[in-house]
Amino acid sequence: MQGLIDALKEDGYRVIGPQVADGAVVYDELESLEQLPLGVIDEQDGGVYRLARRQDAGYFDHVVGPHSLKRYLFPPQETLQQLQLKDGGWRVEPQQFDEPPLAVIGPRSCDLHAMAIQDRVFLEGPYVDPGYRARREGLFVVSVQCRRAAATCFCHSMKTGPRADHGFDLALSELDDCFAIEVGSERGGRILAAVDGWKPGAPTIVDRANDQSSQLERSMEQRSTTEAAPGAPKLRQLDTQDLRDLLLNNLDHPRWEQVADRCLACANCTMVCPTCFCSSVSEVSDLTNEHVRRERTWTSCFTAEHSFLTSGVVRNSTAARYRQWLTHKLSTWIDQFDSSGCVGCGRCITWCPVGIDLTEEVAAIRETTK
Ligand code: SF4
Ligand code: SF4
Repeated sequence: MQGLIDALKEDGYRVIGPQVADGAVVYDELESLEQLPLGVIDEQDGGVYRLARRQDAGYFDHVVGPHSLKRYLFPPQETLQQLQLKDGGWRVEPQQFDEPPLAVIGPRSCDLHAMAIQDRVFLEGPYVDPGYRARREGLFVVSVQCRRAAATCFCHSMKTGPRADHGFDLALSELDDCFAIEVGSERGGRILAAVDGWKPGAPTIVDRANDQSSQLERSMEQRSTTEAAPGAPKLRQLDTQDLRDLLLNNLDHPRWEQVADRCLACANCTMVCPTCFCSSVSEVSDLTNEHVRRERTWTSCFTAEHSFLTSGVVRNSTAARYRQWLTHKLSTWIDQFDSSGCVGCGRCITWCPVGIDLTEEVAAIRETTK
């Protein structure tokens, strides 16, 4: 692992990886193997996130934290343009993209699917976002194959995991005595060749890595059904059968009001979601009024201003905002981008302060329409 970090740095990458800060596993600058969260696991549930130490836990036995690739490809705040008043006229300074390319160690299969969804929004529509494109083109992904799932994970329902099978440069499977590394791109192979101490994997190592992923896949299916072992936390699942129509045919369902009674409209769910892409642009001038920055910041459909049109705020109630979020994510996203907007990472469930769980909300609506 240290050889890999060093090889990436030598190739000019700024290396980012998981580490413990403020009681959570988050992404930050990675210099050394020792910063990785060895022996740490995350216990997650609706409104619950807790780190625990486990003797048999490796470097990557935590699952997903509040951060995702989104914060690096589509940062929470970005200067899009600067304007300078000079000789009676405004001079526009275009955006500079001169930061070193990023290598991120740790994204899981669901995160790679989320990145593909954001690619569709920022790169494959009628408008290509230049900042996103510059960062995305430079991005080197070292994905990690999950070997445990949190109780909030439902990638198996969304067909986005748990095994990462594309979208990475390298993919790590952590085994008890070594890492098995799968090469996913030409530049991934080039970096791996520069890593001190790597060896071609024996077939038995490859089998062990594949078995680990298959075992997790089987256990996720089991744990999300009634066959879950006694005492084992039941995993979430989302029945996606006719989901688009189910929600759109139930826009006046009483459940929207019931969930709104609990929802604080705090926007946490949209901030941690790796696919949410709403933003707001404002112009900020200095005190001389001669220098203006055009800033883009993340925003959320849970705020009143987000639906402000010339006639006023369109979504006036929390029920309308929650319904907008869920129906966009699971229904109209399919019309817009040809896929669901949810990859089943479970972050919105974990980081909702009142534990609102989209899988439970969908199941409640489905139950009444049987
Ligand atoms: S809606 Fe929730 S579970 Fe789905 S991708 Fe977003 S944060 Fe993850
Ligand atoms: S669903 Fe939860 S996280 Fe999302 S806005 Fe409501 S209270 Fe906040």
